[in-house]
Amino acid sequence: MSEFSLYNTLSRTVEPFRSISPKHVGMYVCGPTVYGPPHLGHVRGPVVFDVARRYLQHLGYTVRFVRNITDVGHLVGDADEGEDKLSKQAKVEQLEPMEIAQIYTDAYNRVMDAMNVQRPSIEPRATGHIIEQIEMIQAIIDKGLAYEVNGSVYFDVEAYNKQKVYGILSGRVVEELQAGAGNQSRQLEGQDEKKHSNDFALWKKATPEHIMQWTSPWGKGFPGWHIECSAMSAKYLGEEFDIHGGGMDLLFPHHECEIAQSTAAHNHQPARFWIHHNMITINGQKMAKSLNNGIMVEQLFNGDHPLLQQAFTPMTLRFFVLQAHYRGTLDFSNDALLASQKGWQRLQSAIAVLPSIKTTDNPTDDISEEWLLAQDLEDNILNSLNDDLNTPQVIANLFELSRRINLVNDGKAKITAETKVHFQKIWDSIALGILGLLPETANTNDSALSAAMEILLELRSKAKVDKNWTLSDQIRDALKSKGFEIKDGKEGSTWLIN
Ligand SMILES: [Zn+2]
Repeated sequence: MSEFSLYNTLSRTVEPFRSISPKHVGMYVCGPTVYGPPHLGHVRGPVVFDVARRYLQHLGYTVRFVRNITDVGHLVGDADEGEDKLSKQAKVEQLEPMEIAQIYTDAYNRVMDAMNVQRPSIEPRATGHIIEQIEMIQAIIDKGLAYEVNGSVYFDVEAYNKQKVYGILSGRVVEELQAGAGNQSRQLEGQDEKKHSNDFALWKKATPEHIMQWTSPWGKGFPGWHIECSAMSAKYLGEEFDIHGGGMDLLFPHHECEIAQSTAAHNHQPARFWIHHNMITINGQKMAKSLNNGIMVEQLFNGDHPLLQQAFTPMTLRFFVLQAHYRGTLDFSNDALLASQKGWQRLQSAIAVLPSIKTTDNPTDDISEEWLLAQDLEDNILNSLNDDLNTPQVIANLFELSRRINLVNDGKAKITAETKVHFQKIWDSIALGILGLLPETANTNDSALSAAMEILLELRSKAKVDKNWTLSDQIRDALKSKGFEIKDGKEGSTWLIN
């Protein structure tokens, strides 16, 4: 069996994963800025890091998973100047900024719950950690790596770069950044406060239009966007922790700034592994406000969007995300989701018949050249997970599992009771446990419904024995009209809800 390995953006290689403390993993993932309803771009990261967390738990680690809520400091355009995204929305909706934060945090968590993403161990808010952020800014000033101007504090990239390397994560070089910035307009308000255009805000003096402001050693103001993650990860996971995750869109400047801040304050890097997932495109295009192609998750769940022909379930969306490797692009379209829906239903249909298939007592029956042992299937799956969380490969193996179950159900192969138990175990521990898929034929697990269906199916098989085809078809068709699919196999009939 291979070792669990992950692609580390910092080293640009796939490295074997080793935790800092035995059997414990500290994991920090950048969470949402809560100023609007969750959209398609919000779903990939949480699902990917949820699978990473579940797999670490499967491997026996206790995981402390911290995902923050950004409710202050993230300015429109991700810039150092301008309006706070939450304050802006608060004005639009005529609500308190904290009401906006609450409404959209709740909306985000409802979507995450529906998609079976485990809740974070800790979900800290930036506004709840102003003191920690001020302390960290002060520590950076004390090291001579930040400076105060007119009530704002900026990180001194040039001073830092003399001691350490700024750009270590993104591979960007300070001189090139400087040259690039020189071409851009320097007319932005506040730009002249900075010694260099690469410097970024740790604390901003509050102008009258900023509703959210706090007292600090530098006057009334609010924290910069990047400092919250450095301060909160250190508070809950320590100055050095195992995994820091986020989208590739956060790699620069957000994560680069986090590394610089934490290294300036603590003299070493905050995280051993930096894991970045790729983005979702829509029909081959980047999602952007200007293209007006954004899809809210709610619209996916109710089908109410011009690009959608129907509604899709949360598990279809989860399955769709996992069908691509997290570092590859993922293109969203109605057809792609339809294909995921079909695949996901195919897997569920196969697993639904597993409990009722008959087994053989002859152990040599289920081993032949083309009939591998269930153990091999499980090994393939675990090796795929170990190989930088290769979930598409895991799903390919689950399709192989379903193919084998269908072969047995069709009377073309046999399995022993032991193999049958092992098949079920693979499904339960891998598909449900690690991939976090929730059966959407969940009603088949409802015991009262199952008992009633058993009675109906028994009546139907009796009708068949009596050659009363009218009655047997009537039962099948009536059930079908209510969404029940009846499958007649060699070993009797099974059912599921579509
Ligand atoms: Zn962050």
